[in-house]
Amino acid sequence: MLYRLKTDFRLSIMTLLGASAILGITPFAVMRFLQGNVVAGIVDTSILLAIISGLAYAWITGDTRRSGLLLAIVACGGAVAVGAVVGEPGLFWLYPCLVTSFFLTNPKIATLINVAAVVTLMIHGVAFSSDLQMWSFAATALVVSACACVFAYRNADQRRRLEHLATIDPLTGVKNRRSMDEELQLAIYSADRNRAPYGLALLDIDHFKAVNDTYGHVVGDQVLSELVAMIEQNTRKTDQLFRYGGEEFVLLLPGVDETSLRAVIHNLQQVLRKYMHAPGGPITVSFGIAILQPGEAVDAWLGRADAALYQAKETGRDKVVFSEPAAKKVPAEGVV
Ligand code: GH3
Ligand code: MG
Ligand code: MG
Repeated sequence: MLYRLKTDFRLSIMTLLGASAILGITPFAVMRFLQGNVVAGIVDTSILLAIISGLAYAWITGDTRRSGLLLAIVACGGAVAVGAVVGEPGLFWLYPCLVTSFFLTNPKIATLINVAAVVTLMIHGVAFSSDLQMWSFAATALVVSACACVFAYRNADQRRRLEHLATIDPLTGVKNRRSMDEELQLAIYSADRNRAPYGLALLDIDHFKAVNDTYGHVVGDQVLSELVAMIEQNTRKTDQLFRYGGEEFVLLLPGVDETSLRAVIHNLQQVLRKYMHAPGGPITVSFGIAILQPGEAVDAWLGRADAALYQAKETGRDKVVFSEPAAKKVPAEGVV
């Protein structure tokens, strides 16, 4: 639960809004029933129930887009209803709702919801004691909405940038090791749920240190970028490439069994062997490949690919070694 709150910004905002709304509105709902204002009590209770339902939907389905929209409508619509029923004191409820709209749904829809809420209250007119008060309300609602819009936009933009920095390798533009851990874990969940096969290749450039030592780091960097471009051109859109570290990469291939994994990587090896060049000659790559086994953990899967890669290096490099699953009770790896 804490993990979801930490990683899903919109869900955390929705939960905060929901919890505040429940704490803030419940005493008023009780008070209104006690004072005999049944209509206002029913309005408050309906808003509470709608917020709780929206929150429950978000937590159960993970669909924060729809539930965010629902909560923004419920919050602003509820504030309008309260304003219409209890008059002036109800107007204050609209301000926090105008702000949270921009955090619950996209800026265009939030603007529409906010304008609709303010205009409805103005047309209804009952909540205002004078025209001056009504226009002051409209002006302050506009200022609050504009500030919230700018703040929410900047916040989302910064989050996107941070996410990019935290997940993408700056040199090659592929995902880094951190996102690899998450994606491999997701692959394991998906394999458990859908019984879908997954293949993994751990690849490492052969004698890359010599390229750096002879031609310098700039040339080494170019080779890394070239390798990534070539792998991306020769694999499927659904395959994912990650920089594991230095000149090692992990390729995750959904939907492949042993035969296709061997075939795909064999082809890739041929392409790289043919087209990858440093100034001094061709560049070769070694591969350790493994198919995810039922119930296998990320570390074990990656560990098998790593052991296979080690064997590829030990037996002469420029090779693809397939890791046999332990259950087959044959030597741990076999050369393709
Ligand atoms: P092997 O065939 O056993 O893999 O030998 P190798 O020389 O490729 O491997 P080794 O681990 O000895 O050297 C890896 C080199 O990769 C050393 C390091 O300078 C270089 N390297 C790591 N990251 C980068 C990078 O971002 N840019 C450049 N240019 N070089 C890098
Ligand atoms: Mg290497
Ligand atoms: Mg290496």
